[in-house]
Amino acid sequence: QNIFVPREVDATEPRVAASPETVKRLVGLGFSVVVEKDAGAASRILDGDYVGAGATIGKAGDAAKADVVLKVRRPSESELKTYKPGTIVLAAMDPYGHESSVAAMARAGVSAFCMEFMPRITRAQSMDILSSQANLAGYQAVIDAAAEYDRALPMMMTAAGTVPAAKVFVMGAGVAGLQAIATARRLGAIVTATDVRPAAKEQVASLGAKFIAVEDEEFKAAETAGGYAKEMSKEYQAKQAALIAEHIAKQDIVITTALIPGRPAPRLVSSAMVAAMKAGSVIVDLAVERGGNVEGAVPGQVVSSENGVKIVGHLNVPGRVSASASLLYAKNLYAFLETMVDKEAKTVVLNPEEELVKATLLTHGGKIVHPAFASVEV
Ligand code: NAD
Repeated sequence: QNIFVPREVDATEPRVAASPETVKRLVGLGFSVVVEKDAGAASRILDGDYVGAGATIGKAGDAAKADVVLKVRRPSESELKTYKPGTIVLAAMDPYGHESSVAAMARAGVSAFCMEFMPRITRAQSMDILSSQANLAGYQAVIDAAAEYDRALPMMMTAAGTVPAAKVFVMGAGVAGLQAIATARRLGAIVTATDVRPAAKEQVASLGAKFIAVEDEEFKAAETAGGYAKEMSKEYQAKQAALIAEHIAKQDIVITTALIPGRPAPRLVSSAMVAAMKAGSVIVDLAVERGGNVEGAVPGQVVSSENGVKIVGHLNVPGRVSASASLLYAKNLYAFLETMVDKEAKTVVLNPEEELVKATLLTHGGKIVHPAFASVEV
């Protein structure tokens, strides 16, 4: 069978869905792999590296011959036109709010897998694109904050005087937030963090940061069975805001990472809170693509508030460390695809009843098959 790895059509997407390592493994499983010319260029992977791993270099039109397409972003309608019905597509499908694109994939007859829906169970950890990419985003958020901040982060006691350590506050201590905490600590900052899930408290403490949260009855029940946060009540949000308002005014850098699956990001930092911060402080809103945690954050821009607080709203933050992000993303896709490979027949066999398939398969046989999108018309 044929596997095709395109160059991403979105000009703002530097990542690629296969690495020389995953190509080598796919070839080892008996697949023929075609990588589009320059597909890895923005992630520092050269065509020659893929050829060395056993791939051939092709053009976008080669998608027509593919049984499996490995992508970073959901295929566009014009890309879909080039795929044959029955093609298996693995990508970050970003389906919420893009229901018409889900319908288009069903109409094209492709079997589209939404990699973000991978269950967070031990067996599937190696396939978890949200974790691999959020981890890098959390790291990069601190690097971006440090670059915008015009002071040093660590305490420096020098003959010429002392530079105080920066105070960093991380809001949302999931995968991205925990890596942000660890990175800020490595840079010598004094770190505090908050989350609505009680499980986060111990993880924050284990990284050497102080946990700050309203720990009432609602907080104690704020984690879903899947390990995600619930949307909190208006009352909780008001209590949380009051606590945060006081704390945030004393911070130099704030990194926000709070998300709720399938919902807009919770608003955690108001304009009033920004106005209470010192000039020269920096806020990085990692949730800016999901509606933003920070009032005044602008997707794709670094803006300055009236009182001189910089609000950083970079898009596709994992793409800012594209070479690392692509390697991990490619490995995630490979790990999942491998579970569907019949090693003797050397083909991909899609079993709609299998647990991971059931959780991630959006469209199949011309229909939308995922329950979360059952009401969407094809
Ligand atoms: P996420 O990206 O959905 O959200 C980021 C963080 O924001 C979460 O910690 C969430 O609790 C927090 N948040 C939401 N609303 C908030 C609010 N109002 N105020 C403050 N914080 C708020 O989450 P994630 O990073 O994907 O991780 C979710 C959980 O899943 C974590 O416990 C993580 O450790 C766990 N996880 C488990 C596995 C596994 O077992 N295989 C893999 C990855 C992650």
